[in-house]
Amino acid sequence: MAVVKVSLIDALREHFGFDSFKGNQEIIIKSILAGKDTFVIMPTGGGKSLCYQLPALMSPGCALIVSPLIALMKNQVDLVRSYSSKDNVAHFLNSTLSKAQIKKVRTDLLSGKTKMLYVAPETLTKQENLEFFKELEISFIAVDEAHCISEWGHDFRPEYRRLKEMIEQINGNLPIIALTATATPKVQSDIVKNLGLRDPQVYLSSFNRPNLYYEIRPKRKKDQTIREIVKFIHLHKGKSGIIYTLNRKTTEELADMLVANNIKAVAYHAGLDAGTRAQRQDMFLHEDVDVIVATIAFGMGIDKPDVRFVIHYNIPKSLENYYQETGRAGRDGLEGICVCFYSYKDVQKLEHLMRDKPLSEREMGAQLINETVAYAESSACRRKVILHYFGEKYEESQCNNACDNCRNPKEKIEVKNRVVIVLNA
Ligand code: ADP
Ligand code: MG
Ligand code: ZN
Repeated sequence: MAVVKVSLIDALREHFGFDSFKGNQEIIIKSILAGKDTFVIMPTGGGKSLCYQLPALMSPGCALIVSPLIALMKNQVDLVRSYSSKDNVAHFLNSTLSKAQIKKVRTDLLSGKTKMLYVAPETLTKQENLEFFKELEISFIAVDEAHCISEWGHDFRPEYRRLKEMIEQINGNLPIIALTATATPKVQSDIVKNLGLRDPQVYLSSFNRPNLYYEIRPKRKKDQTIREIVKFIHLHKGKSGIIYTLNRKTTEELADMLVANNIKAVAYHAGLDAGTRAQRQDMFLHEDVDVIVATIAFGMGIDKPDVRFVIHYNIPKSLENYYQETGRAGRDGLEGICVCFYSYKDVQKLEHLMRDKPLSEREMGAQLINETVAYAESSACRRKVILHYFGEKYEESQCNNACDNCRNPKEKIEVKNRVVIVLNA
């Protein structure tokens, strides 16, 4: 790896125009430039991309960046190019490119002009690509969204499991940097194990989102819950919000109910055709509608900074999901209200959804659901429960009443072995 002659801060200014590093960025970049395997755990919006982009620009050769979503790859490359005067500084290689486009990418790579190549895991399963990469000077491999390697993560991709073997075929000595916003210890150890990270430098950022308010509400009858949601939205008129529901049909029903109550809302789910989905996503981003009622198909890669509330109409299937989904609120650091409706019936619905899965998956799913239930039924500070789940130390005195349990402490009633909580209605 190259000896760094310019200071990192100068390089940051030169390449990105930023005046300072965010969080752990500088120390992470030093670790990568020193050629060490590096594991970066940083919440969404923390600035993970820069951690590999800057060292890629500063190192001889080209960095390979593995990214799970073909749809986002073009955006990422366009973003890198927007910082540079040279379009060939970054490319992507995936199944959407024509033969001529692939040829151009290869020519730029061989000429040494390209510093970053974004690839899908599928790109690395093609032997001819591996052969080509073997001949190329590669600075390091970055595996973005590394949690996709783990079944404990919220977005498991089986192809990620084969990355290690494919990287070894290119060159077993290349430094690997893994990045994720998933902080659960189980996922972390899966990543280290499956990518075969060698004595990695691990950089774990705090996952606390101090500007988010967490609240659990008991879910009663359907029309009553909808009335509560309508009232909530009217109180936050004109603000952007996301409502997550478990199934597609409910997104449509709920969106219709909101519209009938003079709320600008649309439904979003994977059953809609791609054109409609893109159109509705744009309506939300451009604020033609205030509320998007969606299944979890909505959200990955969506970066609307001023989402003011996230409502869960059904309890999510894991606490990790809850954190990621609520994390879409208040990206700009301003207010973000996260309300989750909870009923045991919804828990049974989640369990029912797993009925045809293999036993090991059902067991895993049941454990994740149990943890979510424990969160919903807990009388402890919500933030504390979430952060402890991620292995982070946190005292509820730090919460500043930014959760329902800190704001209105609950009464506890001991019933035999089980603690039954009186929900603050
Ligand atoms: P992540 O991948 O961790 O979710 P991104 O890499 O997409 O985060 O970065 C989030 C935002 O932070 C981007 O808009 C990026 O331009 C910005 N950013 C990253 N590093 C810095 C920095 N050092 N100074 C200012 N803005 C930064
Ligand atoms: Mg990212
Ligand atoms: Zn609290």
